[in-house]
Amino acid sequence: MKNCSIRSCLGQYEEKRIVHVVKRNGEVIVFDNVLAEVCAVCGDTLLPLSTVEALENILMNPGKTLRTAPVYEMAEAARA
Ligand SMILES: [Zn+2]
Repeated sequence: MKNCSIRSCLGQYEEKRIVHVVKRNGEVIVFDNVLAEVCAVCGDTLLPLSTVEALENILMNPGKTLRTAPVYEMAEAARA
């Protein structure tokens, strides 16, 4: 297992499936079940090259979305 890249963190990365969010042209795009390496201690997340390539491939050739997700604007909520 790879040691965490955050200095002073003694954690190690574990393979996990995460939710990954990309913002593109102001639009929020959500990827579910993305294979990533997540530090068990601090939560630092690395995306393996194969994952990054797969995400870019989807962004270049966006097909039909499987599900939609609610998006909340926290800047607005904080003002209320
Ligand atoms: Zn860490």
